[in-house]
Amino acid sequence: MENQASQMSVTFWGVRGSIPTPLTPLEIEAKVIEMSSEVVRAGVTNPDEVASFLRNKYTLMECGTVGGNTTCVSVEWEDTTVIFDAGTGIRPLGKKLMKGPFSNGGSEVHLLVTHTHWDHIMGFPYFAPLFQRNTINIHGVHPNLEDRFRGQQKPEYYPVPLEIFPATLNFDQIEENKKYELKGGGSFSAMKLHHPGDCFGYRVERNGVSVIMATDSEYKRGDDGLIARTIEFFKGADLLIFDSQYTVEEALLKEDWGHSSAIMGVRLAIEAGVKKLALFHHEPNYSDKFICNILKKALSDKDKHHPGASLDVFAATEGLQIDL
Ligand SMILES: [Zn+2]
Ligand SMILES: [Zn+2]
Repeated sequence: MENQASQMSVTFWGVRGSIPTPLTPLEIEAKVIEMSSEVVRAGVTNPDEVASFLRNKYTLMECGTVGGNTTCVSVEWEDTTVIFDAGTGIRPLGKKLMKGPFSNGGSEVHLLVTHTHWDHIMGFPYFAPLFQRNTINIHGVHPNLEDRFRGQQKPEYYPVPLEIFPATLNFDQIEENKKYELKGGGSFSAMKLHHPGDCFGYRVERNGVSVIMATDSEYKRGDDGLIARTIEFFKGADLLIFDSQYTVEEALLKEDWGHSSAIMGVRLAIEAGVKKLALFHHEPNYSDKFICNILKKALSDKDKHHPGASLDVFAATEGLQIDL
């Protein structure tokens, strides 16, 4: 088969839902003890072999962590940078961008805002490209988008106002179900999801390759209108980033909290013919091990109910990069 060139590179900078969730010192120590015990048990004595032993035996989520920063994902091609949300993950993304042309100013990003709950905008004032003469295009469907970002930097909540940044901020009120063009042959469109205060999913496409950001949404049984529209919006996506905050049991208990589960993600992804499904917006009360188990259950549910389906399911972890 002919090797197709990558159309976009997707990187996860923040994958946690609701609130930043760093590991505690005791949790880190417990992992160090567990992993070093495994190394001793396996008889690995050459220090140069430790890393490859652990990487072969464990996922990064198990021997490292899924990550504690809140929602931020970048999608890049040529000199175009699209960012889904400005959770605390936008801080390390900003640091990475400042190692390139952004450090001199004159570069631009497109920030697609799903909604303005804290966990999706709280990293914004710490986005380093704001401190040079770059252009930050902030697109969103919610009304008063600029006021919402301005409100976060009122003196009661933050030491400096939005005007302090040398970067140019362009707030762009967009409409759902409309296609917007980007440089280099890309485009994006938005769809309303079911979440308190509304959340919008985004589909970014380039030359037939697509990534969907569908964080913060609930898909209620019986709400066939939303499910049918969702499947249409997800149709044939190469990568679906999906809010799988809760286990199925917890999702039933937390009806109307506006989040979903990995099992629902698998169901929708298979019905829509999605190729890769990233479990995302991980619950802050769930440990790395617990999230691993959610993934294992989702995989066994997929094998049981959809045998032979080619869907690739994984948990989004901080730093993970996928070329599409
Ligand atoms: Zn959220
Ligand atoms: Zn939310």
